[in-house]
Amino acid sequence: LRFELTTLGTGAALPARGRYPTAQLLNVGEELYLIDCGEGTQERLRQAGVNFNRIRRIFISHMHGDHYLGLMGLLSSMHLQGRTRELHLHGPQDLNEVVRLQLRVSETYLRFPLHFEAVRAESGVLLWRDDRVSVHALALRHRLTCAGVLVREHEQLRPLRKDKLFIVPPYRRAGVKAGDDLVLDDGTVVPNSELTEDPPKPRSYAYCSDTAYAPELVPFLEGVDLLYHESTFTEALAARAKETMHSTARQAATIARDARVGTLVLGHFSSRYKSADQMLREALEVFEATVLSDEGATFTVGQRFPGR
Ligand SMILES: [Zn+2]
Repeated sequence: LRFELTTLGTGAALPARGRYPTAQLLNVGEELYLIDCGEGTQERLRQAGVNFNRIRRIFISHMHGDHYLGLMGLLSSMHLQGRTRELHLHGPQDLNEVVRLQLRVSETYLRFPLHFEAVRAESGVLLWRDDRVSVHALALRHRLTCAGVLVREHEQLRPLRKDKLFIVPPYRRAGVKAGDDLVLDDGTVVPNSELTEDPPKPRSYAYCSDTAYAPELVPFLEGVDLLYHESTFTEALAARAKETMHSTARQAATIARDARVGTLVLGHFSSRYKSADQMLREALEVFEATVLSDEGATFTVGQRFPGR
């Protein structure tokens, strides 16, 4: 089943140096989530060959422009293209006001239902759940209220072993897949372990949008397969990071190491840096499985990306 992250924008604050502001596309079994929507996101989606109408949910972390100024343009294009499928928008309460105001003053009546759900920026709060994944909020430390997201697959049922299928009557299969032992007519108990295989391990993705170093996130990020963490500055500008409530690459890597994540993806690079190589170097000193989020790059959740 597909579980992929595509980084559509990797820059901070200003669109510069070929980097777009933050936006990510998460493909969860062909359900598309857009996470943040900086200016230019619709162009980036077009370049990535994504049909906007396939986007079901949009999560906006906070109200700084580099994380949401592309939203009105995207909603407007969806409307003009005749979208009728409902869209769910999750974000700060203020976002709803901004969107409704813009629609009202332009006398735009969207052709599709737009459902808004206010996000409480508290780690562990459930934002969305379907039969495949659950999405929880992560409370980040930023100048504005800011919430990351943690997307986790559910435990799957235990697949039946093909060679044992014949002894499990059809009406008992659901129970066995759920982990029950099988009691035969003569009272013999066949342990579940002889009938089923281990299901694939549930995978998880965490998005830490703008944040100062926040070690209190570690328990929530424990064992996450893929962690995106902002990395706005190098260590030389640690004071600037603190002042603006952003992280250095080393701080991002420290969170990744302490939470024992699979792979760390760095992004949200300050426009003062021509290349993010120094940030990668600094992160690698702390956490080996670190990669940079190139514009348009796709990462499969659960696949290990080695450090360079
Ligand atoms: Zn911000």
